[in-house]
Amino acid sequence: MSNFQNKKGPVIKQFIITPIATVDPPLLNAVGLHQPYALRTIVELITDDNISGISEIPGNIAIDAALESAKNLIIGMDPFNLNGIRQVLEAHFGTETAGQRGDMPWDQRKLVHIFSAIEVACLDIVGKITNRPVVDLLGGKMRDAVPFSAYLFYKYEGAGGELGHKIDPAASGWAAARQTKAVDPAGIVAQAKAMCAEFGFKSLKLKGGVFDPRLETDSIFALREAFGPDVPLRIDPNAAWTIETSIKYGLEMEGCLEYLEDPTKGQEGMAVVRKALKTPLATNMCTTSFGDIPSSIAIGSEDIILSDHHFWGGLRSSMELSKICQVFGRGLSMHSNSHLGISLAAMVHLGAALPKVPYALDTHYPWQSDEVITGGRFKFEDGSVAVPKGPGLGVILDKIALAKLHQNYLDCGITVRDDTTEMKKFNPDWKFETMRW
Ligand SMILES: [Mg+2]
Repeated sequence: MSNFQNKKGPVIKQFIITPIATVDPPLLNAVGLHQPYALRTIVELITDDNISGISEIPGNIAIDAALESAKNLIIGMDPFNLNGIRQVLEAHFGTETAGQRGDMPWDQRKLVHIFSAIEVACLDIVGKITNRPVVDLLGGKMRDAVPFSAYLFYKYEGAGGELGHKIDPAASGWAAARQTKAVDPAGIVAQAKAMCAEFGFKSLKLKGGVFDPRLETDSIFALREAFGPDVPLRIDPNAAWTIETSIKYGLEMEGCLEYLEDPTKGQEGMAVVRKALKTPLATNMCTTSFGDIPSSIAIGSEDIILSDHHFWGGLRSSMELSKICQVFGRGLSMHSNSHLGISLAAMVHLGAALPKVPYALDTHYPWQSDEVITGGRFKFEDGSVAVPKGPGLGVILDKIALAKLHQNYLDCGITVRDDTTEMKKFNPDWKFETMRW
């Protein structure tokens, strides 16, 4: 028997779950207003050889409880055996259903969330054991740096966190601009200029579904005017528009958008809008799992799927999605939520492994000011992030920062994302409506 066969595989012996709260400014969207802190959960797996792997997922109290419930099933398993781990989690959580996603712009399914947290941490471990970056475990690096898009938001004045809707007068540059109110086309253009000056983005995405579509469409025209025809523009009304509104404003913006993201709700509605427009449609709301793909292809609900490894069941599943997109003529890009550097590192490894990246990926990263990795925040150069060097994800958990952000979580009292309740603090009559316009 060879030495290889004699070697006992590594075993996960510790599974540490740490909910954190990271400062988030008052950004507006179709369901309300970002709370002063965004919740993330950091997972750390440690092997019997004391090799640690980390990951970051969108957090809330239910996800943390689901992670906790999976802990004893995962302890004792081999981090190389991702297929076995997936099978154990499927048996534990049951098969996912489309209904579990919910109506909100963010996804609320458990199995894919939990598996992605464990898979990314296991790949970090496997990378450290084999002395290879995660991108190599996904099949190898196709590019050295991954392009991201500016992600513009209508917002109220404020820095978020303890400052809430107040601003820090000492802030300068992007840190100052990030606090500034933006509720009209001029405000969005100013925000875009400040963000691009800091990060060098070459594409612009506007989160819509907040104000009357007239004002939001005019914001896109103002961006076109300010940045010229060579800067790709996108708007994402988060399915707040009816089919008629989507077609009306979609036609107005024809020729001006790189793509129109989730103008309306559901695959059927999207298919109707798609037939009426030349502009490609993208989604992270109507085709959000492998189970949604057959109907998407049958009725033609979108041109571009915005993947997200947190919701598609990890990095390897996202690679599988890229193959399916290629087969069925779908473009592929990436969705994001408020996140820190561990998620960004995973997104960059995935983005570097994808066969093609025809669209700059989404990231909320400029809106966050905290970090949970050593060495500070990621640097963007010309809108792109270089693939981290070093084995695994190439980022190291900063235990002091983790403790501080966990204390934020305990102190802030937020246990679930609730943009609607946050919005009602400023406008008591406001309520969430699907397809408001
Ligand atoms: Mg979206």
